Amino acid sequence: MKAAVIVAPHEVEIREVERPSPGPGEALLQIEAAGVCGSDLHAYEGTQPFFRYPQIGGHEVVGTVVGLVPHEEPLDPIPGRVQPHPPAVGERVVLDPSMPCGGCYPCRTGRYNCCERMRVLGVHAPGAFAEFMVAPLECLQGVSAGLSADAAVMIEPLSIGVESTTRARVTEADSVLIIGAGTIGLCVLQVCRSRGARVAVSDLSPGRLELARELGATAALSPAEGDMREALADVLGASGPSVVIEAVGRAATVLQALDLVAASGRVVMIGLCTEEICIPGALMVRKELDFLGSRLHGGTIPVAATLVEGGQARPERLVTHHMSLEETEEAFRLMIDEPDTTLKVILTP
Ligand SMILES: [Zn+2]
Ligand SMILES: [Zn+2]
Repeated sequence: MKAAVIVAPHEVEIREVERPSPGPGEALLQIEAAGVCGSDLHAYEGTQPFFRYPQIGGHEVVGTVVGLVPHEEPLDPIPGRVQPHPPAVGERVVLDPSMPCGGCYPCRTGRYNCCERMRVLGVHAPGAFAEFMVAPLECLQGVSAGLSADAAVMIEPLSIGVESTTRARVTEADSVLIIGAGTIGLCVLQVCRSRGARVAVSDLSPGRLELARELGATAALSPAEGDMREALADVLGASGPSVVIEAVGRAATVLQALDLVAASGRVVMIGLCTEEICIPGALMVRKELDFLGSRLHGGTIPVAATLVEGGQARPERLVTHHMSLEETEEAFRLMIDEPDTTLKVILTP
């Protein structure tokens, strides 16, 4: 089969490789379409610390089960991981790419997305930038045949938005500021809107702010234009947002989140920040803040699938490019060179 292999940083080869065959408890998927995630880009750029070269990337995927081998003995369910029904050959599915160990403290207590020994398809094991891939049966989530491939692929990134929104306990009573209108920030926006919250989005890119408005943001603000606190007071009230979700991953924007959030509010970090952050201690106590991290998706793939199937979220609006598997490296170049106009690239084999 054909596969796009990230052989080393800044090096993608389209290779003819052996089609994988499923072992016990695994399915063989024929890939219909795969999205390119920011973490795939980090693997290409050499800044994804967990990526094992050479590897087939890709974990946002829709495909069809074309073969499967049942488990030899029933698997102990992992708390919090929803398995609606065992998949069948011929079924159209999307993927929860996480492969938690099942034995560590978070795995035993319903927080498997924080697994101490987490492995992820497309990072630690071959992923979806290929014609076929193998995945554990419990990673599969059925989707309807009528759903567009774009919408189906976007269920995985939307589920990241569900996770962070759940961490922030967002309800219709909340006013939310999302810092960063990339794919994940705009997915968070749609989940917050589906819960009835008012949402302001901040980003430097005019194109992304325009899209945020189209997707239901109450306000879309550029930090380059005027005072953010005043602008937020106008649209969300004088106390400031009750929730701030940081989807950039920079120390400066995390500190901005802590500064702008209302007293007694919640701040969720979803952007992977590699910088050290100097936390203002007095402010944390004075505001009695909940300062939370959000990682991957803990049982939120089915929730995201329901939102997409029901039309309550339209993450396919974030798809800006369709390319072929052979153009995987061009897709990475596009994400680097034209970030303002490139949100989600979908690859088809
Ligand atoms: Zn991803
Ligand atoms: Zn674990």
